[in-house]
Amino acid sequence: MKALVVGAGIAGLVTARQLGLAGWDVEVLEKSPAPRPDGYMMDFFGPGVAAAERIGLYPRLAAAAYRVEAAEYVDAAGRTTCRLDYDRFGRLAGGNVLSLLRPDMERAALAALDDVPPGKVRVRYGATVSLVVNDDDGVRATVADAPDVTLAADVLVGADGIHSGVRAQLFGPEEEYLRPLGMRAAAFIVTDPQLNARFRDRFVLTDSIGRVAGLYSLRSDEVAALLVYRDAGTAGELRAWSPQERLRREFPGLGSAVDRLLELCPEHPYDDVVAQIVMPGWRAGRTVLVGDACGAVSLLAGQGGSLAIAGAAVLGEVLGPVSSPAGIGPALAEFERRWRPAVEVAQAAGRRAASSFLPANPTQRLLRRWVIRATQLPGIGRLVASRIVGRIAK
Ligand SMILES: Cc1cc2nc3c(=O)[nH]c(=O)nc-3n(C[C@H](O)[C@H](O)[C@H](O)COP(=O)(O)OP(=O)(O)OC[C@H]3O[C@@H](n4cnc5c(N)ncnc54)[C@H](O)[C@@H]3O)c2cc1C
Repeated sequence: MKALVVGAGIAGLVTARQLGLAGWDVEVLEKSPAPRPDGYMMDFFGPGVAAAERIGLYPRLAAAAYRVEAAEYVDAAGRTTCRLDYDRFGRLAGGNVLSLLRPDMERAALAALDDVPPGKVRVRYGATVSLVVNDDDGVRATVADAPDVTLAADVLVGADGIHSGVRAQLFGPEEEYLRPLGMRAAAFIVTDPQLNARFRDRFVLTDSIGRVAGLYSLRSDEVAALLVYRDAGTAGELRAWSPQERLRREFPGLGSAVDRLLELCPEHPYDDVVAQIVMPGWRAGRTVLVGDACGAVSLLAGQGGSLAIAGAAVLGEVLGPVSSPAGIGPALAEFERRWRPAVEVAQAAGRRAASSFLPANPTQRLLRRWVIRATQLPGIGRLVASRIVGRIAK
């Protein structure tokens, strides 16, 4: 059996590995010329932990994880206003919380392709899938720079992220499925030894209204930055500026560390709408979507990487044993039946987190401080954690 996987993000690479281990021939097509270096620190907890343990990926992820003592909110003078102890957060979230840089998670998934017998999985970078055809005989895809060459397979997996082109071609335009949460997020990595020394082992977040800047020191002299701000919408003049200009205009006055980040901000950092993808169905004929393409939860749910791994693991489990085209439809239906409930729970948690993540006024900010301080109190800590992380996955 042969599969084409569009997208070598976390969901695409893990799907490819699992199908390769099951004996499939897999071709992964990724538009970027190499693994993408962008992205911030991601909490890795919930369903992805159990899935990563089950499929043997957990040790690679644990080896790449960062130690985080706390998430600290600070005012413009750098004084701590409230603090979430990470060991405690980890216990409340059911244990086993890893903090991983998005590109490290992707690199771990790429390295794990070594577990597959040679020749079973091929990853092609710099290959933008431009056309997808889905009919009774199978699927076909065309890559932008070689439009005359048609790639054929038994199954096509759209793992091409929140702005999925596979989804647009086979399921309908993005506007039908993308649910914006009213904000944008930018992430980039800068090199600055002094900044790095100031913020070791903790997430630092500005305790600000309508925008938040987060910093985390990496192992080298680098600092990872996350900037989340209200989306001005298509009419907003901010839209016309480059991401770098937009961030410099949105984030003044939050203290010297943020000023330094803005100075070092690259011209084109990762900068995208914070949104979810909600679809009535994830499969069409021999094509199926996985990861953000069908069920993006947004960074507010804190589980994008976790769900990408868990969803890909479930897809591998149901599709892997299929040995004839007749088995594909039922397997894809089973994937959706098994996996959709977990995605819906995480999406609900993401929507609930929106107001506390980016408070609109001083009252909402006070409420957030209260919620974070309350995690230190015995008894209500678990209740509060469930507000932060949703129904805590076992
Ligand atoms: C650059 C980047 C930075 C991110 N930073 C953060 C972050 O800081 N915090 C956070 O919570 N989440 C972040 N995310 C989202 C997070 O990666 C996902 O929620 C999660 O990892 C699930 O990923 P996925 O594999 O489903 O999709 P993605 O990670 O989006 O991967 C999709 C892949 O498909 C490729 N692709 C798209 N279209 C095509 C095409 N036509 N042909 C071939 N390939 C195509 C893309 O280049 C990409 O590599 C980021 C995503 C990206 C792409």
